[in-house]
Amino acid sequence: MMKATVYHGTRDVRLETVPDPSLREATDAIVRVTRAAICGSDLWFYRGVVEREPGERTGHEFVGIVEEIGSAVRTLRPGDAVIAPFAISDGTCAYCRRGLQTSCEHGTFWGDDANGGQAEFVRVPFADGTLAVMHEGMRENDDTLADAATLCDVMATGHHGATTAGAGNGGPVVVIGDGAVGLCAVLSAARVHRAERVIAVGHNAERLKIAAEFGADDCLDSHDPQTLERLLELTGGGAPSIVEAVGNEESFNLAIAAAAPGGTVTYVGVPHNVKTPDLRSIFLKNLNLRGGLAPARAYIETLMAACVAGQIHPGRVFDSRIPLARVAEGYAAMDERRAIKVLLNPGA
Ligand SMILES: [Zn+2]
Repeated sequence: MMKATVYHGTRDVRLETVPDPSLREATDAIVRVTRAAICGSDLWFYRGVVEREPGERTGHEFVGIVEEIGSAVRTLRPGDAVIAPFAISDGTCAYCRRGLQTSCEHGTFWGDDANGGQAEFVRVPFADGTLAVMHEGMRENDDTLADAATLCDVMATGHHGATTAGAGNGGPVVVIGDGAVGLCAVLSAARVHRAERVIAVGHNAERLKIAAEFGADDCLDSHDPQTLERLLELTGGGAPSIVEAVGNEESFNLAIAAAAPGGTVTYVGVPHNVKTPDLRSIFLKNLNLRGGLAPARAYIETLMAACVAGQIHPGRVFDSRIPLARVAEGYAAMDERRAIKVLLNPGA
């Protein structure tokens, strides 16, 4: 038997004793989780904003050690340290080969099949396609494992936003949102793409301090009524690259208003209640809309190399590191905005 986190209802997740997972398909692997994370998007079902079936397992961000492999697994061996992206993918279909693993023809998501990542063990479907083997230098300690755990989702998603926004093409980059994804978008723009100027917009002083550490040249308060004016001033009339990392209508339309004509707005926050995006401005300014659900799997190797080279340390977004046994407290802390992001250690 093992421990796994189970959803029971609004603001009710519990760590429970459940049967150990076992190999089901020849392409499966069993992974012992060494670190798991709670995602900002987990708060949507936690708060009851999106529906979820009671009894479902939770968690889509985890890293661990391969314990067992099915007979058809070719690229992994027991003992390998691995990073699991938030989407399961076969690695072989036309979409996977194009680097769009989130649209994999055989793809699924964690938690759907009594198989969540906030647990001691996980059965990983299509292990060869889904899992990335961790670089030697990332297995070392708490901090490198924290860096690795961001590559499952938030760092990959922030990087997707900055990359598709053209952060490396010159000109200032604006990142709207100071959650973990927004902070990671700042880090990607400043330290991976080496944008000449990065402007972060948020409303939490502690988080904006991390944005500055991650390379933001300016940090603006999104609650200040002068923010748009200030953004236009700092960017000489609008930025060519904007990353929207919140997902509500207000920030979406701020992104559009702060974009320079011909610029690119990427949105990597799951949209919730964006009913009237300002299509007229998108039209008049010839804006490009990009971003979307990040194919995290496609970015893991690049980002791992940047971590090992010391170029980025995205694990800094975890301001709370607790044992898996305290997972319910971790959800409450993120829900009440007492923690930006929580890292869970099943071995602690
Ligand atoms: Zn595929």
